[in-house]
Amino acid sequence: MSGLDQPKILILGGTAEAAALAAAIVARGPDAPRVITSLAGRTRAPADVAGEIRIGGFGGVDRMVAYLRDEKITAVIDASHPFAARISGNADAACQNAGVPRLLLDRPPWEPRDGDQWHIVKSTADAAEAVPRFGQRAFLTVGRTELAPFAACSGIWFLVRLVDMPTTLLPLADCEVVAARGPFTLADEQALMQRHEIDMVVCKASGGEMTRAKLDAARMMGCPVVMISRPAVPEGPRVDSVAAAQDWLGDVLT
Ligand code: NAP
Repeated sequence: MSGLDQPKILILGGTAEAAALAAAIVARGPDAPRVITSLAGRTRAPADVAGEIRIGGFGGVDRMVAYLRDEKITAVIDASHPFAARISGNADAACQNAGVPRLLLDRPPWEPRDGDQWHIVKSTADAAEAVPRFGQRAFLTVGRTELAPFAACSGIWFLVRLVDMPTTLLPLADCEVVAARGPFTLADEQALMQRHEIDMVVCKASGGEMTRAKLDAARMMGCPVVMISRPAVPEGPRVDSVAAAQDWLGDVLT
């Protein structure tokens, strides 16, 4: 197949699943569709991704429509993070507008296990309100842009884990930052939480294996978890695994 008639797949990335899907498609060899993974550009050093990469926002729905047309994208697989609601909504609107098939690859949510003490809340603001009820030393893994509501939690010390060390001051008065990228092991999470005398975990219901170990550590240490539930996803075709996304792609390309 020549480069010109090769189908072109746009993957909205920023997750392990997006990277695994890109790798699986590229591994099909010279007859594989071209794969472009789009990253928002939030982290300083993006993880390795097979195929082509574009970095940065599209500039809203209309510009994404123009991109899909200009690049002659055959199909879009939205494998962005379950909490990246804006890009998922934009991709849905842009694909409808441009007449490009779109699939949502939405990783399965975590399921509670015996002994878990999960307190599910609907938003970061609700999580911040709940925190003082559960302890005084919180392990906070909600991301750099979601910290502001926790500034109102008085008397709470936070261990904030981010992918990159921040270059600007965090909005939290009493905190320590640890910069690390998953996957995280149970032994490491337990050691980290014990060293900092953590008595609660505050996180998003992200799902996936990369960051699950903190929940197992919390259960073993008897720590409650304040978990922010996922935002709604757009209507339309949806799968929860890389293999199922490849099947969908197979159907679209035949
Ligand atoms: P978001 O709120 O849904 O998106 C905000 C804006 O960032 C979008 O409107 C878009 O800008 C741009 N954008 C987001 N994802 C993009 C992508 N894959 N390619 C190109 N532009 C993108 O997203 P977010 O929550 O800030 O997350 C940003 C990225 O980090 C996502 O790709 C996501 O997969 C990844 N991530 C997010 C989380 C999380 O907790 N939210 C966790 C881990 C990884 P324009 O409107 O200009 O196109």
